[in-house]
Amino acid sequence: LISRKWRVEPTRIDIGDGVVIGEGSFSIMAGPCSIESEQQIQLVVDHLKANDVKIMRGGVFKPRSSPYAFRGLGLEGLQMFYRICRESGIKIITEVMQVSQIEEMMNYVDVFQVGARNSQNFNLLDSLGEAQKPVLLKRGISGTLEELLQAAEYIFSNGNEKIMLCERGIRSYENAYRNVLDLNAVPVLKAKTHLPVIVDPSHGIGLRDYVEEMSLAAVMAGADGVIYETHQKPEEAFSDGQQTLNFQESERLVKRMRQAYALR
Ligand code: PEP
Ligand code: MN
Repeated sequence: LISRKWRVEPTRIDIGDGVVIGEGSFSIMAGPCSIESEQQIQLVVDHLKANDVKIMRGGVFKPRSSPYAFRGLGLEGLQMFYRICRESGIKIITEVMQVSQIEEMMNYVDVFQVGARNSQNFNLLDSLGEAQKPVLLKRGISGTLEELLQAAEYIFSNGNEKIMLCERGIRSYENAYRNVLDLNAVPVLKAKTHLPVIVDPSHGIGLRDYVEEMSLAAVMAGADGVIYETHQKPEEAFSDGQQTLNFQESERLVKRMRQAYALR
């Protein structure tokens, strides 16, 4: 069902209030790795608004490698996130980690993110298929494109067609950076499926200094959008500060991606 052979027309996903993701436009989603406080949300929202970015990312349920690391503010954090974004007209994308969270999060989310670690959590995918809410599905840490497409098929075949795929880097032997952002995936996925393809350069390379270059490369590779991490003080971020842009870097990135997209 997600194949171009079945549907030639590209799928465009309306997440409300005229915000549409998919071929024909370039979507930018930005925000901190984790939601931390009311003040932080407000500062990021102001930054996004000033740059005409309409979708904010931010985790409230965080999949952390160590159980002792910051694991997110949970549902209360999400409600705070929602309240501030609604007042400002900003859309929310945040990660859902398990089936039981779908219902409690449902009313406070515009796009559910399925993280790399849950890319093949088939029960979660089935349930997201039943929930009529857009989903950004990340590629697994060592996932093949075929596995990513099959994971999307779980959601689609349960009746939810609002799916975007996300390349976020795969694990390799290289340790000069966090992951290997596989930009090959962009044109290959675009040829195989009608679903929008989004790139996450922050997790893809894991180093702030190279996020801009990889984002621009993603634009030229044909991505329908980019999702990246930004924070008012990356060095104080609760998670992923090493790959997070400050607002000055973020502003520059937004401008350059739009210029690049216009040239595409
Ligand atoms: C995130 O977006 O902060 C995240 C945890 O991403 P991933 O699942 O790609 O590691
Ligand atoms: Mn992160």
